[in-house]
Amino acid sequence: MSEQEQMPPSENPVPAVPVIASAESANPAPPVRIATVPAVPPICPQCHLPVLPEYYFCPNCGANLRLRPLSMTIGTQVLLYLFSAALPWIAYVAITKWPGPKYLRSEDPRARAIGWIALGILVVSSIVAVWLTTIWINQQISSAMNAVGNIGSFGSGL
Ligand SMILES: [Zn+2]
Repeated sequence: MSEQEQMPPSENPVPAVPVIASAESANPAPPVRIATVPAVPPICPQCHLPVLPEYYFCPNCGANLRLRPLSMTIGTQVLLYLFSAALPWIAYVAITKWPGPKYLRSEDPRARAIGWIALGILVVSSIVAVWLTTIWINQQISSAMNAVGNIGSFGSGL
């Protein structure tokens, strides 16, 4: 049999492959994988087009592909936590400086009317501020979810 004469008996651990792959047998290229690679796929986080790993910027939309990682030092954490704790109290202190109650308690009906107008403006402005803050927070959450989904691990656990 001519085929058995061409193959060495046991020195080659790789099973016999067609002649097409013989040129790549020294450095076998991995087969093309479709979206099941567990590593971070080289995809632009903005336009979702594939990019090369060595790119610094997306050639399609110009997005920065080498964002510096966030600082996680103790000092940065302390500042972030202090800011998070103080932020509502800044609003609280500002609200308690509001001079409206003096007008609402006044004996003068004109002063009380001014107080009620100021109170109405305060309520409407607060509603708008809370509404815009909610929209901003929802945008931040959805963009964070999109970033997680681009990596491909969305839903695999938080
Ligand atoms: Zn892009």
